[in-house]
Amino acid sequence: MIQADLHVHTVYSSDSLIQPKTLVEQLLAHSFIKVAAVTDHDSVRGCRATIELAAAYPDILIIPGVEISTMNGDMLVLGTEELPPKPWTPEVIVDYAKSVGAATVVAHPFREYGMGNIARDFEVDAIEILNGTSSAKANNEARVLAKSMGLPGTAGSDAHQMSELFRVNTKIDAPLSVDEVLRAIKRGSVSVQVTRG
Ligand SMILES: [Zn+2]
Repeated sequence: MIQADLHVHTVYSSDSLIQPKTLVEQLLAHSFIKVAAVTDHDSVRGCRATIELAAAYPDILIIPGVEISTMNGDMLVLGTEELPPKPWTPEVIVDYAKSVGAATVVAHPFREYGMGNIARDFEVDAIEILNGTSSAKANNEARVLAKSMGLPGTAGSDAHQMSELFRVNTKIDAPLSVDEVLRAIKRGSVSVQVTRG
């Protein structure tokens, strides 16, 4: 069982202050969150840089990813170090993810840049039901959406600065392996919680 922050922005997102090195240090220092997905806005440079830095440490795991600004709202792609082909419609992103074995997660559906109920139209793998920067109301609506779609729910801090890291986390029934984590998300072996302590 691992605990992961599945939505983190580094300085490769123009609106984030988190250096890849800082994220690695924070994972090393944390007592139980040892996994993070780096999901910069429309860029995979941050996940590549962070993975390179984390490679020296077998106790932590960086999941490569990206947060794509689709025409219908933000979508996380977990498990890719490449950008999907354009045009960035939800369908293209979902097809791309399926073709490379990545997982798609609808980010903060009921917040600004969220997909809202349009998410129902796409074959995504999961819904982000606990976003560290969304209101309780928006997270609850996301939970209802996931339930009604029969999809797993994930949690991610959506941190853009160090103090926001790891505020929420996803418990995943998987070992420290990107492939195993993706598989566990898709089969729904996940639960979400606010991080204590
Ligand atoms: Zn984000």
